[in-house]
Amino acid sequence: MNNQEKILEIIKEEYVGMGCGLSFKSPYQLLIATMLSAQCTDKRVNIVTDELFKNYDTPEKMTKLTEEELGKIIKSCGLYKNKSKNILKATREIIEEHEGKVPDTFDELIKLSGVGRKTANVVLYNAFAIPTMAVDTHVFRVSNRLGIGKGKNPEEVEKKLTGLIDREDLGKFHHYLICHGRLVCTARNPKCDKCSLSSYCEFFNGLKEYNRDS
Ligand code: SF4
Repeated sequence: MNNQEKILEIIKEEYVGMGCGLSFKSPYQLLIATMLSAQCTDKRVNIVTDELFKNYDTPEKMTKLTEEELGKIIKSCGLYKNKSKNILKATREIIEEHEGKVPDTFDELIKLSGVGRKTANVVLYNAFAIPTMAVDTHVFRVSNRLGIGKGKNPEEVEKKLTGLIDREDLGKFHHYLICHGRLVCTARNPKCDKCSLSSYCEFFNGLKEYNRDS
């Protein structure tokens, strides 16, 4: 078993069972929750959508809100002006171009306003069970540090991970890598001394070399 296979095995053992942290009851709700989650915690998004979806849980109902009204409801998620504008624009596109249903292909999803690769991949896996690797800030950082998915941008990392991980496990590993990034391999001060992957981690072993040489 090579280093990368060992890393995947340990991650799987450690985080098996971890899934999507966003609450949703339909592909549309997941799309909106994912759009709200940019630079916001899942916990905060769930509090906001719990309130929002009481009265506005379908595209038809959502369009009853103005940008300002929606902005007030989602304000605590941050970036609320842009999010509000994109959510209403994407919602109208779903009604006008997709008969009110969230499309289930990558190419159609990324054409929606405010929807990028990450959001499209999150929706495809969690709402439609289509295997994808969504690369968010945690997946990007952890994959680069470990050396299992090195890349200068999320698309490069996505390509590497997609080539490495079995297709049917892609979506699960997205969640496992996020958990590792949140709990252990944090952006600042990663807890390398408590990390079960340190023996195999490029970043950690590079640091050891650096400290020894300096
Ligand atoms: Fe992250 Fe450190 Fe673990 Fe490497 S050893 S994965 S840098 S926490």
